[in-house]
Amino acid sequence: MKASNILSELGISHLAETGDIAVHSPIDGELVGRVASHSVADVDAALAKAQAAYKVWRNVPAPRRGELVRVLGNKLREKKHALGSLITLETGKILQEGLGEVQEMIDICDFAVGLSRQLYGLTIASERPGHRMAESWHPMGVCTVISAFNFPAAVWSWNAALALVCGNAVVWKPSEKTPLTALAVDKILKDALKAFGDAPEGLTGLINGGRDVGAKLVADPRSNIVSATGSTEMGRAVGIEVARRFGRSLLELGGNNAGIVSNTADMELALRGILFSAVGTAGQRCTTLRRLFVHESVYDTTVERLKALYGKVTIGNPLEQGTLMGPLIDEASFNRMQAALAQAKSEGGAVFGGERHTVAGNEKGFYVRPAIVEMPSQTAVVLKETFAPILYVLRYTELDDAIGANNAAAHGLSSCIFTTDMRESERFQSASGSDCGIANVNIGPSGAEIGGAFGGEKETGGGRESGSDAWKVYMRRATNTVNYSSALPLAQGIDFNV
Ligand code: NAD
Repeated sequence: MKASNILSELGISHLAETGDIAVHSPIDGELVGRVASHSVADVDAALAKAQAAYKVWRNVPAPRRGELVRVLGNKLREKKHALGSLITLETGKILQEGLGEVQEMIDICDFAVGLSRQLYGLTIASERPGHRMAESWHPMGVCTVISAFNFPAAVWSWNAALALVCGNAVVWKPSEKTPLTALAVDKILKDALKAFGDAPEGLTGLINGGRDVGAKLVADPRSNIVSATGSTEMGRAVGIEVARRFGRSLLELGGNNAGIVSNTADMELALRGILFSAVGTAGQRCTTLRRLFVHESVYDTTVERLKALYGKVTIGNPLEQGTLMGPLIDEASFNRMQAALAQAKSEGGAVFGGERHTVAGNEKGFYVRPAIVEMPSQTAVVLKETFAPILYVLRYTELDDAIGANNAAAHGLSSCIFTTDMRESERFQSASGSDCGIANVNIGPSGAEIGGAFGGEKETGGGRESGSDAWKVYMRRATNTVNYSSALPLAQGIDFNV
């Protein structure tokens, strides 16, 4: 499918010819289109409109708000192939993953529709006679979403679907590397709003641009919730800024995810799991497997078999069927990968793969061979997130040491163990096991479903979004005490009579 056809099917072919953001596809380096950045004044207008819309939307019954998200999910179903193709064109992830990303958006819409009838509060036993206590959940205001390039659409939907049913307005600042996907999603959303009928104007807004408009959104107290996904460096700046004004932040930051391969592992399954999570999306998922601790008794065979599998990975145009690995997002990313490999060598690592790979007809794309690096210990480079397909492999003897090594990273997003020993599995998932927000058994650390709460600890930022009770971050809680008696007993038995 040609780029122009994809854009036209998504209704965004009339792009500004003079836009300051030039989008080059990582597949072949060709210019796909230009998009104009929004200004700081646009941020102000979007927030003002969103705040006004919220004041209307918060009084719309939640199940009716769910109807908007139901319509959105259906529009996404109609455009799944075109939007998935655009995601592939703009990020370089393979089409299967581009389509998977849209499916994830559809899934969260379904989840949010159900949720719109389940925003449950509690009733609480009061210590006072003739009193009732309860908890109510109310909309928060404007939810500002800042997203990263590698999930250019799904991250917005995880936040927006929930934030909308919870009664908030949503303003989105996507990555400056993927503004076309954002325009396409915004167009689908506008179609959904039109079909829905009576949503207040300005309920959703899109601000394209870089750090400057992002920072402006973050600093503005009208951004009641700031959900920011991206690097730890970005999250540190955003988290501090939001805290300064006592706003609410939801941070989804980097990961340096590890896996443990026990001597009892089902090796066929483990190798498949490792391959998908280390090589999939060319190592550019926040949950990508980056560190592997292998029991010494199976270390040599595991590394040997992994290398054989790596040799079979088809690298090429991600739009073509059969390709398993597309390009890196850009040259800067390629340079960071090469620098990390050089550092690994200088720190005693043995590097397999990692070199640039030429794809005929796409010479301007930054394709690489995925790398396996055997390391003597967790040196500085191993403890750093390099957003590329580099898998550091280390040997261990005792499970406790492997768990300690898993937890030694500054990030705490995802982790896994491959084992058939129930004790090892439970130990890994226990309070003294993995310290990550995601701890899997016999699957890799990546590829989460929307039903669970997604996010991680430490330098991953501590936020949770998507399933389970993550919706609560988009609402404020009120505790209500109602006295239906004619007396006024005070709590704690306090006597206060004149
Ligand atoms: P990035 O931090 O460079 O950019 C992310 C977004 O933040 C962009 O929209 C950018 O414009 C904006 N931004 C940057 N500085 C800002 C500031 N000071 N104020 C406001 N906005 C600012 O990240 P990236 O390169 O696009 O994505 C890769 C990173 O994202 C990796 O570290 C990856 O692990 C992480 N990530 C995390 C998750 C998660 O759910 N935990 C998901 C996807 C990606």
